[in-house]
Amino acid sequence: MIQLERVRPLNAARVRRGDFVLYWMQAAQRADDNHALEYAAAQANELGQPLVACFGLTPDFPGANVRHYAFLLEGLKETEAGLGDRGVCLVVRRGPPDDAAVELGRRASLVVTDDGHVRIERAWRRRAAVTLGCPLVEVATNTVVPVEVASAKEEYSAATFRPKIYRHLERFLVPLPRTRLKKDSLGLRLDSLDLGDTAKVLAGLGLGPGPSPSPSFRGGASEAKRRLGEFLRTGLARYALDRNDPSLDATSRLSPYLHFGQISPLTIALAVRRRGQRPGRAPFLEELIVRRELAFNFVRYNRAYDRFAGLPAWCRATLLERAGDAREYVYTPTDLEGARTHDPYWNAAQREMVLAGRMHGYMRMYWGKKILEWSASPERAYGTALALNDRYELDGRDPNGFAGVAWCFGQHDRPWGRRLVFGAIRYMNAAGLCRKFDADAYVRRVEALAAQVEAEVRKKVGLDQDKAEDEKPARKDKEK
Ligand code: FAD
Repeated sequence: MIQLERVRPLNAARVRRGDFVLYWMQAAQRADDNHALEYAAAQANELGQPLVACFGLTPDFPGANVRHYAFLLEGLKETEAGLGDRGVCLVVRRGPPDDAAVELGRRASLVVTDDGHVRIERAWRRRAAVTLGCPLVEVATNTVVPVEVASAKEEYSAATFRPKIYRHLERFLVPLPRTRLKKDSLGLRLDSLDLGDTAKVLAGLGLGPGPSPSPSFRGGASEAKRRLGEFLRTGLARYALDRNDPSLDATSRLSPYLHFGQISPLTIALAVRRRGQRPGRAPFLEELIVRRELAFNFVRYNRAYDRFAGLPAWCRATLLERAGDAREYVYTPTDLEGARTHDPYWNAAQREMVLAGRMHGYMRMYWGKKILEWSASPERAYGTALALNDRYELDGRDPNGFAGVAWCFGQHDRPWGRRLVFGAIRYMNAAGLCRKFDADAYVRRVEALAAQVEAEVRKKVGLDQDKAEDEKPARKDKEK
């Protein structure tokens, strides 16, 4: 059953007699627990038509680089197979997502899409809605409670948002049955990029230089489910106690999969609930639902969600009041990017992010606070934190990233005791880290990761050299 509040027509066009129903897959890149896909499937059955899915692979998603695209493509290839098993042909076109939707939409009776809330995702949907000559319907599936149902305004904090989420939770936190399609679209002849060799597709995107693909995360729904299973078996029971200890790394590590929509928050939340009243259940659902959906609320209602100007007035005022304070350390964005500060814990956090594509959640708070402390101005700090986060984190460029960086500057928080540079913004220091957990053990964990990555790079370079050597005689033979 798909709750009606999830469904929102984006234009007033009428259903016409096309060849198929089109599911324009954008943010929810999955074949399971996807309300937009199930809604589109039900519409296709009602019209007696097949369902086609499309995905526009733009190389120009703001801030996205090789690391992100490699992960996305691994997931997309698996989703293509998952959709195929259900009789849905996935058409992947290179170019802006709305172009793909509009082009294929010419033959569609109606187009259904999922919900995307960052600026560019909203712009794509707006443009497609006015260009398509058939209905464009958006079905909310990227949060447990649809963003606009949860609240109609920007929320002040988790405390004001939590009761609003819980008011609706029981209605939305329910399993989503699969719709069996009556007609399949696999026989339709529609041009599509061949995803067989994802390395080739990646190379064909012509991306500029960027961080290499993460050695720690492989994209795809099956990997997301494997991680979820592992977390349920070994992590959930420890979550309440250990989640804030970066030396143990006891959290789910599901955020990249959530970011690319390769797993639904509904799948995770229901699986956690089914485990019964474990100690970790409540704090985990607080992060997955309340905190994550508060971030969606932030980007939905705050136009400047990615800028210093988007912070609450009291945060801006207190930070600007202290902008002239002398800083004990001032680092440039390049120093920070290269993890060249005096602080071994901060450097370790930065290296973890650069190497693995994911920094532990507790260190992200410390990391952002220190960028504020060590930058020449709060505005500059804001830009640096967001740019580094989005470049290196696999889960970057996400509502959670925008809200997470903003939190370091006071968003969703309250005023604290006044101090230099920070004004009334909450402060964190290295002594606090050492009181809470074994911070040196965290540094050692990152060093071990760095050694492992280096060994893998050496192995790869060695293999590439061997391959080049092997190919030499073959080339010479040919020349003869
Ligand atoms: P778990 O602890 O296992 O939690 C499960 C899920 O709940 C996460 O995958 C995430 O979706 C959600 N969640 C957990 N903590 C938070 C939180 N504090 N706020 C909102 N949702 C949360 N998260 C991103 O997804 N992308 C980002 O780019 C990002 N950047 C951040 C930057 C800063 C400066 C800060 C302070 C936080 C940022 N976060 C970001 C939020 C959070 O740190 C990560 O979501 C979390 O660490 C991901 O690890 P996990 O999947 O193991 O989380």
